[in-house]
Amino acid sequence: MAGKKSPWTKTKDTRKTGSARPGQTAGPGSLFSRLPGGPFRLSIGYVFAILVGLVLFNMLVVGSDTSVIPYSAFKAKIRAGDITRVEIGQNFIVGYLNSGRSSSADTSRKPFSLFNPATAIPSVRTVPVDDPQFVPLLEEKSVSYQSAPRDSGGVVGFIVTWVLPLVFMFFIWNLLMKRMGSSNSNVLAFGQNKALIVAEGDIATRFADVAGVDEAKEELVEVVDFLKNPKKYTDIGGKIPKGVLLVGPPGTGKTLLARAVAGEAGVAFFRMSGADFVEMFVGVGAARVRDLFKQAREKAPCIVFIDELDAIGKSRNAGMMGGNDEREQTLNQLLVEMDGFDATSGLIILAATNRPDVLDPALLRPGRFDRQVLVDRPDLVGREAILKIHAKQVKLEGSLELSKVARGTPGFSGADLANIVNEAALHAVRKGRKKVQQGDFDAAIEKVVAGLEKKSHVMKASERETIACHESGHAIAAAATPGADPVRKISIVPRGFGALGYTLQLPIEDRYIITSEELLGQIDVLLGGRAAEEIRFGKVSTGAANDLVRATDIARRMITDFGMSERFKNMALTKRAGSMSGQPQEAFLTREYSEETQRYIDEEIARVIAARYKHVLGMLEARRPSLEALTATLLEKETVVEEEFYALLAAASAEPVSAG
Ligand code: ADP
Ligand code: MG
Ligand code: ZN
Repeated sequence: MAGKKSPWTKTKDTRKTGSARPGQTAGPGSLFSRLPGGPFRLSIGYVFAILVGLVLFNMLVVGSDTSVIPYSAFKAKIRAGDITRVEIGQNFIVGYLNSGRSSSADTSRKPFSLFNPATAIPSVRTVPVDDPQFVPLLEEKSVSYQSAPRDSGGVVGFIVTWVLPLVFMFFIWNLLMKRMGSSNSNVLAFGQNKALIVAEGDIATRFADVAGVDEAKEELVEVVDFLKNPKKYTDIGGKIPKGVLLVGPPGTGKTLLARAVAGEAGVAFFRMSGADFVEMFVGVGAARVRDLFKQAREKAPCIVFIDELDAIGKSRNAGMMGGNDEREQTLNQLLVEMDGFDATSGLIILAATNRPDVLDPALLRPGRFDRQVLVDRPDLVGREAILKIHAKQVKLEGSLELSKVARGTPGFSGADLANIVNEAALHAVRKGRKKVQQGDFDAAIEKVVAGLEKKSHVMKASERETIACHESGHAIAAAATPGADPVRKISIVPRGFGALGYTLQLPIEDRYIITSEELLGQIDVLLGGRAAEEIRFGKVSTGAANDLVRATDIARRMITDFGMSERFKNMALTKRAGSMSGQPQEAFLTREYSEETQRYIDEEIARVIAARYKHVLGMLEARRPSLEALTATLLEKETVVEEEFYALLAAASAEPVSAG
């Protein structure tokens, strides 16, 4: 451009040469030479540089030989005869100056001047004004005029309208690809697993790092043994389980346990989250599953751990809108793979979920995840053990008692406790201490509880008391009812799935026939929870809702199904499933008895329940010392097992207690 010798463009050129320097570094030349080679890292900065470069390029080329002048000056030039030819565009008028060369050449359009300065005609540009006198003036001065060709850009126009959008789209595409994890430029490599799916060897986690989930640990010790000595089991003809499903609320150590199994067995560990399989593109998840199992088979013995199994394992017919094809394919592929390998190869699949209720039943069939291990929130003893594990990392004041901390954290999961230890350490540092004190833990608990209360798995003290009393009622009613199943465990640690506490009764033998007395006994035990609340607090709570559903159901079936009522002795008052369209899910019930009979059934249920409730109230009143003692013990220890329970009953009351 500096080669321009026209007086019209001289001043402009000097200005432009000043700014041409940055244009040379950020301009198109350097841009395009950078594009194909190099590490090809895309960043916002890069895109910005391209845009700046193009704008500069545009300015340099387009603006190089045309100066913009006021409309009045433009007209003056026409009047003076300086302009021989005019192009009228929408937003501009270009006038070609009367200097030297012939103006007839249509080819001499200025953008080419950059590359071929000789053909350039100096020109001026102006912004048009709505001026009816303009064309008459041109006529008068016999200036040739035409409307400007639409493509006024030439090379620049081509770049702006075609190349730039393409380049831009290419970059966006690349950015998306990167987001989706296929960082390699090979767009077709979707099915490959992310870098995450390499086997982790040498897992340092051991069972000693997990506490408070002893039952789960016991089951998994066996899995470790399978992996270490598969021959021991296969020689005798036993089948090694293929899949073990860890079920429990978040943060209870499911992932930790899976790692510990791999660590103890000394085998490779493949970890993938269910969400990783679910991709935008149909078929990718299935390909990932295939790939994962291919790698795992090569590395056997090993453990494949699928975290958050529910993300792919959701029941296939759940959801109204036809379901999710991609997830279904992924799940099908998983089922195929699980059926396809032989457990003697030393490949065991562990999976974790906190939503076992939504899993597709096909996953739980024999030969798949036929073993389920419950990983529950820890009780008092478990919490102390977990705190001990995590407190190893921090310096504690000698006087600090972790048992006190455990006592103050009912309902906390292992992850919550790990968080508490960390928060306490941070608090100590903030206070400028060298060691963590009890006060630091108190502050940490307060802080964490505030967060957890929102998630509502921390109970208020009064709620705990109600639950302890309620569960005691069930347990004592069970112990006092002849023929009831013995109590194995009572707990007020909230179970993950709805129940606030539980009383576990296990039958001594399988029962196929239940007598009417035993049915009434079951009702008694179910009503025991609410009765205990009434005795102790003089009021009842909503905590018994599920008990009442079950008790009422037993009472109803005694009357309608088992013929145990007085008026309809030995008669079945059945309801039959009818159907409007033949579809089973649209079934509705039609009863085959009169309205009056229905009323009798309702009243009879009410009568039975009221009578049993009265009976249970009396029974618990008579055992009030046991009730109080058990409630207190539960509040303190959170879980009471069989032996402790019956010893406590014997100690609390002189009266004979039937132990089942
Ligand atoms: P989940 O997979 O059940 O959601 P994680 O295994 O990811 O829980 O637990 C998160 C962290 O919480 C663990 O890394 C560990 O530090 C701590 N943690 C959880 N449960 C326990 C436990 N039972 N014993 C020791 N630490 C635990
Ligand atoms: Mg986890
Ligand atoms: Zn109950």
